[in-house]
Amino acid sequence: MKSNLTDLDISELKRILTGLDEKPFRSTQIFRSLCRGLDFAEMTDISKTLREKLSEKYRAVSTEIIKTLKSVDGTEKFLFALADGNVVEGVIMRYKYGNTLCVSTQVGCRMNCAFCASGLNGLVRNLTAGEILGEVIAVNKYLGGDLKDERKVTNIVLMGSGEPLDNYDNVVKFLRLVSFSEGLNVSLRNISLSTCGIVPKMYDLANENLPVNLTVSLHSPFDEERKDIMPIAKTYSIAEILAACSYYFDKTGRRYIFEYVLISGKNDTSRHAEALTDLLKGRPCHVNLIRLNEVKERGLASGTEKAAKEFLGYLVNAGVSATLRRSMGKDIDGACGQLRQRYIEETKDQEKI
Ligand code: SAH
Repeated sequence: MKSNLTDLDISELKRILTGLDEKPFRSTQIFRSLCRGLDFAEMTDISKTLREKLSEKYRAVSTEIIKTLKSVDGTEKFLFALADGNVVEGVIMRYKYGNTLCVSTQVGCRMNCAFCASGLNGLVRNLTAGEILGEVIAVNKYLGGDLKDERKVTNIVLMGSGEPLDNYDNVVKFLRLVSFSEGLNVSLRNISLSTCGIVPKMYDLANENLPVNLTVSLHSPFDEERKDIMPIAKTYSIAEILAACSYYFDKTGRRYIFEYVLISGKNDTSRHAEALTDLLKGRPCHVNLIRLNEVKERGLASGTEKAAKEFLGYLVNAGVSATLRRSMGKDIDGACGQLRQRYIEETKDQEKI
């Protein structure tokens, strides 16, 4: 079975080339071509012999777009195929300041949050660093972008399917690859990593010296109620999460963000708004509220726009920095894992026929 050349950093590429009796300086050329999304046949700046040698063992393109869906609001969703036939999804959101790509880090997810489609079938496998990078490469190419200044993907959020900190080594390597100056050169400050709150890994990340934005999915100010929404809350308390966030802030100087999905009657009452305010007031953080994108298998309801605005108003009036995110791409199964879930259902239906 071939492996992905996109999994390798420059020093690993150099080693491979030396092993093939080739000049190590070719590593940069190859890395650049990989980041452009070129297959071996298109790498005309290296010899045919080298291309052949590499293609015996490696794949140049790890992640391919097999389906795109465009929303009326400009959001575009991608279904990516990996070499083993697994599929993951990504979505590009267009803002005034640039294009933010949301990538998946795992096929499925084992966190099983009560509102989320990604965990419906559990975890299938981790994505490799090169496969995550491959999502960015594929979309950048699709948008007509190139390396560095000509890149079309300006920001990245690790908020697609999967729990990034449950795939720690591959995700950290991905962060180094995607920010590497010779390749796509995405500034780490333009990358946000979202976690359900795997506390020890949050400390590890703080110690990596990678100034990415840390986002934590909170979804409740109460430990007991959070356990109903997110099983991971049985392992780590909110107090432990907040301590890890403070450590992250001390290490990186970066304000952290909390994601809060508003679920009707479950976490969007005034009792929740008050407790959330008490918890977060005075902290260097921001709260991103988002109305639930209903996932039919999960049976939870989204509240009204009015209820969401009231919740937001309470936080803001009490001095907590917060915004209500526009829910984008609702018409194209915008929420985490929904498109893949639909794809799996459809292929199952086809198998039945
Ligand atoms: N495992 C990571 C990253 C993936 S989920 C984490 O837990 O943070 C990232 C975010 O996707 C969640 O915090 C939530 O804001 C959003 N999300 C997932 N499913 C959603 C849904 N059905 N409706 C609205 N937002 C959803």
